[in-house]
Amino acid sequence: MTTGEQGARVVRAPRGSERSCKGWIQEAALRMLHNNLDPEVAERPDDLVVYGGTGKAARSWEAFDVIVRELRELADDETLLVQSGKAVGRFRTHPDAPRVLLANSNLVGRWATWDEFRRLEALGLTMYGQMTAGSWIYIGSQGIVQGTYETFVAARKAHAARAPGGGRWVLTAGLGGMGGAQPLAATMAGMACLGVEIDPARIEKRLRTRYVDERIDDLDRALDAVLESVQRGAPRSIALCGNAADVYPELVRRGVTPDLVTEQTAAHDPLVGYVPPGLTLEQAAELRARDPVEYVARAKAGMRREVEAMLAMQRRGAEVFDYGNNIRTCAMEAGAEDAFAIPGFVPAYVRELFCQGKGPFRWVALSGDPEDILATDRAVLEAVPGDADLRRWIELAEQKIAFQGLPSRICWLGYGDRAKVGLAFNELVRAGRVKAPIVIGRDHLDCGSVASPFRETEAMKDGSDAIADWAILNALANTAGGASWVSFHHGGGVGIGNSLHAGMVIVADGTEAARQRLERVLTIDPGMGIIRHADAGYETACRVAEEKGVRVPHRAG
Ligand code: NAD
Repeated sequence: MTTGEQGARVVRAPRGSERSCKGWIQEAALRMLHNNLDPEVAERPDDLVVYGGTGKAARSWEAFDVIVRELRELADDETLLVQSGKAVGRFRTHPDAPRVLLANSNLVGRWATWDEFRRLEALGLTMYGQMTAGSWIYIGSQGIVQGTYETFVAARKAHAARAPGGGRWVLTAGLGGMGGAQPLAATMAGMACLGVEIDPARIEKRLRTRYVDERIDDLDRALDAVLESVQRGAPRSIALCGNAADVYPELVRRGVTPDLVTEQTAAHDPLVGYVPPGLTLEQAAELRARDPVEYVARAKAGMRREVEAMLAMQRRGAEVFDYGNNIRTCAMEAGAEDAFAIPGFVPAYVRELFCQGKGPFRWVALSGDPEDILATDRAVLEAVPGDADLRRWIELAEQKIAFQGLPSRICWLGYGDRAKVGLAFNELVRAGRVKAPIVIGRDHLDCGSVASPFRETEAMKDGSDAIADWAILNALANTAGGASWVSFHHGGGVGIGNSLHAGMVIVADGTEAARQRLERVLTIDPGMGIIRHADAGYETACRVAEEKGVRVPHRAG
């Protein structure tokens, strides 16, 4: 820990092969908690905000210090309990049990509203954990880049099928922690991108980390740059500093119809995540503090304007989709009755992958040495040979992705492959081919870990969108399997009242015990996706269950 400019506290994960905790699992949790708050990684580390509106890693700096102390003292047969960013208990368990169990932002159903959450937060009783913020497995914008890339590729195909030669440029908004991955994902997928962002500091961060190519604030010049790069066949990404609620309708007025249209402001949290049109950032901060009710009303009115422009572009032939921030609900509340004519990205492009147990598998080199990630990249390609898309992705990622904080990697892997790769990483550690253990985790946005009717479980075949038992079973099953830390959260990417979801992390430390835990957990976890979707009647999931021997009891003879 050091003290930065103006006395702000700066934390960064320890590196290297020496640890300060009693075991590597505790050390991994300690390093990942620090890594989440590394200024290179977090969006607003001074406030402990990692990403996604107000997604935090610990409730306060005081709570952070207590967690760090407990992790340092935690024995190999103990488990630390963390309640919304505060260490609240430590019990003797056993070596195969998780070292940390976390619960974030959970509220009883009837009380699950933003107003009640904020009341309790102001009393110091809870914090917003988002998905990977409060569960200590955020890896910067890379964490979403492949999912965004896959989504954009699928959307481009859908557009090109309707408009031959189409799918050449993307309009989006919000270049924050997750949204900032969009310009890079677009160019990786061979498309130009115009990204509208209200906060110049966020644009600066994306330029610094090479997630966006250039900033042009003049709309005419920005459009020229996008269209020129499309024509030259050398897609570029342009950030424009402005309010999406102004820029989107202006594009409609000018008759400009992008090929793909989405947006990723933090609309799930209308008080913090969306700046109403007509206000500077300073005026927005002042209104937010002075009159939160008025602020939310103006933010939602802005969302309505933006969504109505998206609907107009959809009518003119654009491929328009909601990218998982619940903007449709807020826009509808403000009067955009047709908001749900815009499809969500999961039913439109991703559910088929979920049915195969595929999702955002990620890992981090605790050594801090980028060479270790290159070693893991090779291990992935050896463990899963013959997958051309995977090879292309890893090669692109090596060329294009700048690490933030501890070096890490993401790639979507399915049932069977996740366990194979986990075992391969454990072997790398055992054989000393990497300098320290590897942490393996995933987003809560995965195939079998979330109940979220406006996102991951929107429009389920059997109508089970709001059934949250699956997410709870996921956390329990991963705990039983011996994950290193397991978390259960509420709210996440779509806000209070709208989702329940579970996270898991498992450490490959090269031991035989880790090998057994990895095999169990990395089989159970994606297996949950298969059984969840088989239960809902998806044919792909039923077929994959049968082919891979995943037992679905009520279907078994
Ligand atoms: P963030 O808080 O880091 O960034 C939001 C950005 O939107 C900020 O940079 C902010 O300045 C900008 N913004 C706000 N109002 C604006 C406006 N009117 N016009 C232009 N820009 C505006 O959030 P994030 O981590 O980037 O997440 C964005 C959203 O995506 C959240 O709602 C999050 O929950 C959701 N999310 C989606 C996925 C997914 O897979 N699709 C995954 C994670 C998070």
